[in-house]
This record gives sequence, structure tokens and C-alpha cells, in this order.
Amino acid sequence: MPISPESCCGPCNNAARKTIAAYEQALETHVVEVDEWIAGGQHGACPPAPEEPSVDPTPGEPIFCGRCKGLIRAALLDLDVLASELAARSDGHRGSIQEGRVSGSRGSASPSPTADALDKLYGFLADVEDEWRGACGYAPRINRTHRGAHPRSRTIGWLSEHLNNLLADEDHIKSGLDILRWETVLRALAKEEPVGSVSPIRCPRCATLRQVVREQEHHWACRSCGRLIPDWEERELRDKQGRELEHRENDLVSGAV
Ligand SMILES: [Zn+2]
Ligand SMILES: [Zn+2]
Repeated sequence: MPISPESCCGPCNNAARKTIAAYEQALETHVVEVDEWIAGGQHGACPPAPEEPSVDPTPGEPIFCGRCKGLIRAALLDLDVLASELAARSDGHRGSIQEGRVSGSRGSASPSPTADALDKLYGFLADVEDEWRGACGYAPRINRTHRGAHPRSRTIGWLSEHLNNLLADEDHIKSGLDILRWETVLRALAKEEPVGSVSPIRCPRCATLRQVVREQEHHWACRSCGRLIPDWEERELRDKQGRELEHRENDLVSGAV
């Protein structure tokens, strides 16, 4: 939701939104206090009005700011990875991994919460693609895909190609925010790190160790320097730094001999 017509609708303005909501709450409380003061015969000074906070929301470009657009793009690509992982996992539970075929939850005898969520995710993504194709006058969505490619991956690919224009359309503010929400849902299903948990990585900016914490569902932040790290980057760094550590340990071992 925009704070003003020019402000970014994304999570960067969550703090500003909270500040404004708190101020509006304080205004309501103040009205009650003044009513009580009047009803009580106006003894003493009138309760002071809350001070208007100065908020400086990030502007949208034109709807989401560059950083939030990046977060949404990273979340969209994450959905593909997370959904494939979850699908593979839930297939594993059923013990029915089929070569060259991607798990469909439809027709499964015992629908799991994961399969259910993945169905709904695909429905959401396909709806956004259909709407955007309709809005732009493009040909309808093609469901047939190459062998092995899931329609979900194809739709995510299509959406990521059109994401910049989509996120500049005010009818699709919710689509952008829903992409972020879906990532949260899939992460919860995958039981990934909750908010506040510490990542083992070294901060890519200040190189401090164990200061990168999950700040929000789709990104991390360094407690030392404030650097924001989207999920995909955190995962890359985790992988890269993990391999470097392995090398160092191997060097140490071989050096000690
Ligand atoms: Zn923003
Ligand atoms: Zn840092």
C-alpha cells in the first residue's frame, strides 16, 4: 500500500508505514483524552497532541523502488527453486520419483499441504501471466512445454521477462507483493531460517563474521554495516564461502603434514 502516491509500495517502506500507523493510533487516543478532559470539566492543561513524525518514504520508480523490484525479482526466481525442491521432496515422501517427469500433485491419492500449496502457487502465477497477456494483448498462454520442464518454471520464466513492465502497472501492486508472500509461504514449508536467525556467512561488504541475520522473509541484513543481502545472494555466498573454507581446511591439513 502506498504511503503517498509517489512512495514505493514495497517492503522498504514498512518502517515508515508502521510509524504512520502508530501516529494515527496516537491521534485517536488523543481525541479520547481530550473528550475525557472536556467531560471532566477541563481541569489542568489540555492533553498535548502527539507530535507528527517526520517520515521520509522511499519513492517508487514509478511504483516500486529499484531495491524492492530487485527483491521481487529475486523472490520470483526463488519460487522456482523452492517449488522444485519442495516438489521433489514431497515426491520422495511418496516414493514415486519418475525420471523425466515433474511431480504433479493432481491425481495424487493423498494430497499433502506442500502439494496443495504448489497447486495454488501455480494457479496464482498462471493467473498473473494470463492477466498480463490479456492487458498487453499478447497471445494466450501455452501450456505445452518441453519434456521435463514444469509449466510452473515456464510461467516463472515468462513473468521474469515481463516483470519490469508488470511492476510498473498499478493494477499489479498486489501481484508484486504476492510474489514476496509466496516466497515466505514456500520458505515456511521448507522450514528455512526464521527472522532473526544468523547466517554463517561473512558479510560481503564489511567481512564481519556471524553478523548477517534474517531481517525479513526474503532478505538478510548485516548487523555491522547494514548491507542488505537477498536470499539468492546469501545462498551463493554460503556456497562460495563454504567451499573456500573447505579449501582452507584442506590446506591446513596438508600443511601440517
Ligand atoms: Zn521499495
Ligand atoms: Zn557488513
